[in-house]
Amino acid sequence: MKEICPYCMDKKEVKVIELKEKIPVKGSSFSVSTKALECRTCKTKFSTKKYPNVAIEKAFNLYREKNCLLLPEQIKSFRKELKLTQGELSKLFGFGGVTISRYESGAIQEKSHDNALRMGMTIDGMTTLLNQMKQLLSDKTIKNIETWIMEKKYIRIPSLKEKAKSVVQKSIIDFSGYKTLPRL
Ligand SMILES: [Zn+2]
Repeated sequence: MKEICPYCMDKKEVKVIELKEKIPVKGSSFSVSTKALECRTCKTKFSTKKYPNVAIEKAFNLYREKNCLLLPEQIKSFRKELKLTQGELSKLFGFGGVTISRYESGAIQEKSHDNALRMGMTIDGMTTLLNQMKQLLSDKTIKNIETWIMEKKYIRIPSLKEKAKSVVQKSIIDFSGYKTLPRL
């Protein structure tokens, strides 16, 4: 297989290798392995679009797992459920304007922010938060949040028989204890 080697600056014969790295994240070190290419001529290892360097992303996820932090996708799907923009969600939690945007694109969240988000994922937490922040929020934001709360409240808890049936449906239960029940 041939690929342009960024060091030879020419199309060269390459092989796919398994790259094992230790990535430091906030004082801890995580071993991750990713695929990369190695130029058979100069032996340089490099990434391409097809073999991207996802080592840091992987290490960040290991850090999140170890510290029980929400994943960027979980924050994003929570926000989508609420039908809020990144700025609106930041405002609701009293975070800086670009905070949620940073978290969704992979920055590791503060533990206190993570705790706040998990709290907000519960009906009681979100109700309290809404009451506290109401003055600062637009009517549209408030309405969307109220709709979310109503939907959570009145979602039917499926019976055992329905549960068995719903196994084939996709019920997302993540480690936050925040649960999306199938809509029956
Ligand atoms: Zn080369």
